[in-house]
Amino acid sequence: MQGLMMDMPLLISSLAEHAARFHAGREILAVTADNPEHRYTFSDAVSRSKRLAKALQALGLEQGDRVATIAWNDHRHLEIYYGVSGSGLVCHTINPRLFPEQLVFIINHAEDRFICVDPMFVPLLEAIADKISNVEGIIVMTDADHMPDSKLPNLHCYETLLGEQSDDYEWPMLDENAAAALCYTSGTTGDPKGILYSHRSTILHAYASVAPDAMGLASSDTILPVVPLFHVNAWGIPYSAFMAGAKLVLPGPKMGDGEALYQLMDNEDVTMALGVPTVWLALLQYTEQAGKRLDKLERTLVGGAAVPRSMIEAFHKKHDVELRQGWGMTEMSPLGTVNAPKAGLEGLSEDERLDLATKAGRGIFGVEMRIVNDDGEVQPWDGVAYGALQVRGPWICSDYFKLEGKAGSHTDDGWFETGDVATIDPDGYMAITDRTKDVIKSGGEWVSSIDLENCAMGHPGVAEAAVIGVAHEKWTERPLLIVVPKEEGGIEKDSMLDWFDGKVASWWKPDDVVFVSELPHTATGKVKKIELRKQFADYELPTS
Ligand code: ADP
Repeated sequence: MQGLMMDMPLLISSLAEHAARFHAGREILAVTADNPEHRYTFSDAVSRSKRLAKALQALGLEQGDRVATIAWNDHRHLEIYYGVSGSGLVCHTINPRLFPEQLVFIINHAEDRFICVDPMFVPLLEAIADKISNVEGIIVMTDADHMPDSKLPNLHCYETLLGEQSDDYEWPMLDENAAAALCYTSGTTGDPKGILYSHRSTILHAYASVAPDAMGLASSDTILPVVPLFHVNAWGIPYSAFMAGAKLVLPGPKMGDGEALYQLMDNEDVTMALGVPTVWLALLQYTEQAGKRLDKLERTLVGGAAVPRSMIEAFHKKHDVELRQGWGMTEMSPLGTVNAPKAGLEGLSEDERLDLATKAGRGIFGVEMRIVNDDGEVQPWDGVAYGALQVRGPWICSDYFKLEGKAGSHTDDGWFETGDVATIDPDGYMAITDRTKDVIKSGGEWVSSIDLENCAMGHPGVAEAAVIGVAHEKWTERPLLIVVPKEEGGIEKDSMLDWFDGKVASWWKPDDVVFVSELPHTATGKVKKIELRKQFADYELPTS
């Protein structure tokens, strides 16, 4: 027997309608290159998204066509999210920090017909213009007065296009499984791979994200996404903020600027901020130097890479801000786990609480997890056994765009291979111990590079740390610690290595430490271990 409920498709346009109806006056503040303080409302954003949808239609775009963006987090980028996806086109966000050859690959692979671009990124397109012949037009995200002087053919001005349209527009009724957005993984090895989100997956992910034990978003919140709209939809914030009716603060090109972020938080009464650990290092460093306190911020969601215990402690103790760790992937829309407190664990000591907070968190409803060993055997959730982490759920990719199963990313029984190695404890808290390819294999046992990095980051003189495995005659591999000290020459080698005594198993202690002035980072701000491994491939560890 079938239920008797309406079969309404879950569409991104319905979020726009909801926000415009129930939260019309809620504010969106954006920093853009042409205006450091652009302020308008949800109602304005939705009206302009409709005008954009009409403009794109007038340019000849049809359902399923890809429209790319290369832009920072601002109000125009947000309007493109709704105007493009809401009208049945596919919003393909591109990371401007990619190498030119990656940009060419991605734009051609996606078959983008139009690209919306921030004025400052126009030179990126000029440099590759002759290699992206499928692109019919470039829409520069600014007004007529700020249009760059460029020889690119088919250049349009965003504000002029919008000015030519009214907002008299009905969103089309689409299939909820239709493609809505496209994002490529940075691809540290091989070509980037495209993840094609659907309307349905996006809405379900938004429902799950706003829940109290996930992001816990309410209409009373003011959200600062320091995660880019060009990567995994800024963790879905454009959608979940519209669902909740929360005020948005979009930092534009100021994402890596600790002082600017602090000012935005303070001026706009930000209650919730999201970002990768590197971003918060910059903010914490600024507050420390300037003697400031994050008085208004209530909580942060930090993920995308392991979060050092020292960072959790700094937020908590110095600023009285709750830091929730999250784990996810581009392939997962991205949210998989969030480390929220759980009933029954109230009695934990301060120290135990901090230890727990270093874990990636509990699976949110909609994401199933399992860990399997090298023989494919499912491992117990005892917090000790580790294995390759596999997941499944309605906002996890079933394949990559145009790869038709060739990526080998899924098991025969339909689980997605995350490429992460993890433990899961009896309470369901998952902890990432490594990327499969970063695991250090010492004497047949696995050493967690993440645990060692976390421990090193707790040293007061350490600004950033990475641990890689280097070849060792007897043990196959041994850990090498690479440290960026806060002050050059500020840490002695021995004192750095002794720091691990009593904090990790003795055989995990790195064999050596190298001090460097900076670590290489990926386009999404993560330490590029592949490059470090290349750089230190011939490194000779001390023999004793
Ligand atoms: P890319 O780095 O290719 O751009 P993603 O942004 O999708 O891709 O990164 C996903 C990966 O980031 C995860 O598979 C995991 O290795 C790492 N990651 C994400 N969150 C965490 C976390 N909280 N702790 C440790 N690693 C994390």
